[in-house]
Amino acid sequence: MAERRIQVTGRLGLHARAAANLVRVASQFQSSLTIKRLDGNAQADAKSILSILTLAASRGTDLKIIADGVDEQEALDAVVGLFSRDFDETDKGGGEQVARATKELRCKGLGVSDGMVIGRVLRLQEGTPNVYRAEIAEPDLERERRRFRAAVRLSRRQLETIKDRAEKELGRGHAYIFDAHLLFLQDAKLTRDVEDFIVKERSNAEWAAKVVGDRLLSIYTQINDEYLRERGSDIEDVIQRLLANLTGEGPKYPNLSEDAVIVSTELLPSTIAELNLNHVKAIATDAGGWTSHMAIIARGLGLTAVVGLRNFYHRTRTGDQIVVDARGGEVILHPAAETLEHYRFTVHEPGPTVPDVSVDEFGPVATRDGVQILLRANVELPAEFHAVRNFGACGVGLFRSEFLLSRPGLMGSETEQYEAYRLLAEAAGEYGAIVRLFDVGGEFGPDLKERERNPALGLRAVRFNLHHKEVMRTQVRAILRAASAGRLSLVIPMVADVADVRAARQVIDEESERLAAENATFSKVQVGAMVEIPSAVLTAEKIAGEVDFFELGTNDLVQYTLAVDRGNDKVAEWFRTLHPAVLYGINRTLQAAREAQIPVIVCGEMASTPAYAVLLAGLETTDLSMIPAMIPRVRAVLSQIKVAEAREVALRCLGAATADEVEEIVRTEFKARWPELFRPNALPK
Ligand code: PEP
Ligand code: MG
Repeated sequence: MAERRIQVTGRLGLHARAAANLVRVASQFQSSLTIKRLDGNAQADAKSILSILTLAASRGTDLKIIADGVDEQEALDAVVGLFSRDFDETDKGGGEQVARATKELRCKGLGVSDGMVIGRVLRLQEGTPNVYRAEIAEPDLERERRRFRAAVRLSRRQLETIKDRAEKELGRGHAYIFDAHLLFLQDAKLTRDVEDFIVKERSNAEWAAKVVGDRLLSIYTQINDEYLRERGSDIEDVIQRLLANLTGEGPKYPNLSEDAVIVSTELLPSTIAELNLNHVKAIATDAGGWTSHMAIIARGLGLTAVVGLRNFYHRTRTGDQIVVDARGGEVILHPAAETLEHYRFTVHEPGPTVPDVSVDEFGPVATRDGVQILLRANVELPAEFHAVRNFGACGVGLFRSEFLLSRPGLMGSETEQYEAYRLLAEAAGEYGAIVRLFDVGGEFGPDLKERERNPALGLRAVRFNLHHKEVMRTQVRAILRAASAGRLSLVIPMVADVADVRAARQVIDEESERLAAENATFSKVQVGAMVEIPSAVLTAEKIAGEVDFFELGTNDLVQYTLAVDRGNDKVAEWFRTLHPAVLYGINRTLQAAREAQIPVIVCGEMASTPAYAVLLAGLETTDLSMIPAMIPRVRAVLSQIKVAEAREVALRCLGAATADEVEEIVRTEFKARWPELFRPNALPK
């Protein structure tokens, strides 16, 4: 056995390319080569790149190299020589890395919540495969291992092609990273561990690759060195490629560190629901708009979020430092020291703030001319249940039940759902909660493999339910049963006309008959319709005759009335809540409901915006449902206005021809009538 002490002198420490060179040299010898850190117990196999990188040996780290075998002295000399030559690297590639790692990059987007956060990037790619565990029978284990090896081979071929292209188009300095990816793929620490896992756990290859990959990633997210921690994203890329090749889908995400800022091209609400929210500090996405579900949920949870950043995702690496400034609608990657100092003084993480609400701020709010307006809460996740009381809500006006589906394609059992609705009813209290049947399809895609060409106009909401009756029946039964334990109603999402209502009601009636026949404990519930499609607005009188209440979903009403994708930042300037066509739609729906004497709850984002809530009061709305945290602000404003005055403004708005005209009326009228209530930035620009 031969050994030597050595110090890492390269500026970037034992980083990926250096480690790749080390593996190449070490692999030429028969002797085993072990590297030990002298400041602890960490040690690595010098022939395994993954093992070397987990040493996190930055500049100045003292190491011991131990060679053992027939050619131990030559092996030791070769490795020590490589260290003393700084791994045969010119400074070029490393220099670029330093530049990449330190140059501040600012990107403008749309801040959709409050707060400013400093944290570390965690890249999360959407469309990643869902990996489930399957037990493999003994005789099939060999086949499973072969399947895994085939995925490794395919990944290798793909990476070689990518590397060739990168070399041609970007130069050798940029292609080296794929050498590291290729080495990860060959590394026994990955391949042998996955194969061992398959055999020992009788596991399918996907699950084995995911578990082993997650273990490696969690080691990386804990590394204390910024540059080396970045390598976690390279491993993440390789694992995702492997999983994609095994499943034929896209890739999956790693464990979260404590200050994770999720950076993604697009985030599905189901993905957010699946994250450990205690560890998510903020969200930054390339796509999205104010009313995209990701934005709604971020606001609901008090998470700092900036959306619509276009090509930001591809410029980040897991582990990069980042500032997310939702107030300024900006993200800053690799913030410079002075930027950090500025934000450290002003940093404000909104968190799920629990306000100091006194008892008389519960219940409906009375306007100055004595009109009572109910303020309810929109809720998506059980994590928000406590907010209903804390913010003084009159129960839950909208429970977006699809967020119970922790992953696309995974519908909860009747028992699980029953328990969730029972807890919801308990949290909602005397005013009760309105559960919306799963609004899946469209952007929530229950089956990512079957993405529709035009999902917003596809098999979404009530259409999905009527198409998958077994899913609908399970949910309806769970709601009816939970209704015996608390006050619950049910609302049918996205009905186009009364035919949709009738078809849905038939299923609801059949399930209550079945429950009665089974002698189950359940209660009948009130059934409402979401009015959010223009055809429903135009036939509102007909629908009103067959439901107990309406819910006005202004988010979709704007989307469908103006034909503007609510999640597409490129058309965000056409998404105008105060468009006269939207106001006519709301007004018409309210009139139809008044004539049929049924209540209307306005539950889109419009109700959460104090100035718009005043306008809604002017259109004679008396029931609003919003993000819980906004209730105190909306309450404060409504308690100081007279509905009669708001009505005058609303009528003027209904006479306008464009969104610009409506906004101008709101600006001038509100400033003149309620100068103290609305600061200029609280009014439409
Ligand atoms: C709406 O469309 O306004 C609404 C409340 O529902 P969602 O945002 O979930 O589509
Ligand atoms: Mg909707």
